[in-house]
Amino acid sequence: MKIIRAEFNGECFYGVLNGEEVLRLKSAPYDAIEYTGEKLKLSEVVLLPPAEPSKIVCIGKNYKAHADEMGEGQPPEPVLFIKPNTCIVYDGEDVVYPEMSNRVDYEGELGVVIGKRASKVQKGHAAEYILGYTCLNDVTARDIQKSPTQGTQWTRGKGFDTFCPIGPHIETELDAQNVELETRLNGEVKQHSNTNLMTHGIDSLICFITEGMTLLPGDIVATGTPEGIGSMQRGDVVEVEIEGIGTLKNRII
Ligand code: MG
Repeated sequence: MKIIRAEFNGECFYGVLNGEEVLRLKSAPYDAIEYTGEKLKLSEVVLLPPAEPSKIVCIGKNYKAHADEMGEGQPPEPVLFIKPNTCIVYDGEDVVYPEMSNRVDYEGELGVVIGKRASKVQKGHAAEYILGYTCLNDVTARDIQKSPTQGTQWTRGKGFDTFCPIGPHIETELDAQNVELETRLNGEVKQHSNTNLMTHGIDSLICFITEGMTLLPGDIVATGTPEGIGSMQRGDVVEVEIEGIGTLKNRII
């Protein structure tokens, strides 16, 4: 099932994509999927980011080859940081290059969308709390992330407005631990990997995060980027494609 959010006649709502139709839902898809019975043409609605997270919990260095390319080695346990929900933009929306930065990078990642309040999740049970999966770009002002004046904190460099494109929808039926992930810049392949190369798998990540932090319905876990990160320039078009989900495409301005 492909879950979307859309706006039509001034109203925002969740829906399920059915070919060229949108089947409108009564409410957010977290407790149950309930249809209103209304069908809209995909061409007559404005699509929106498919989730409204209270926070985006991101994992640093969760693919060994990426940890190696950063020259910092693999940390012994997942490294967490948070992007604010004001970073979110949708498929087709622009990513704004901050004037204060001279290096802005793409990081193609699998995004896990939480479907149920999750606290102290036990190993092997994370799937019960997951609504589905989406493509995500953990856009990073690398020079600001690494700036000595920011200490070891990544919030400023990764928290700019528009720095978290997500979409184009939430796929609920996916063997997300074994899908191909590719990032293209102006059509050229820059990252190509498989989610089976994550150091800490999705189940472990959800358990680790929720030991101390409650994840709410709609929250997103960004599961880390594989090797091949690099910089973008104004005017570039970046695409994150994940097998079984689709392609998230954004321009840098
Ligand atoms: Mg990342």
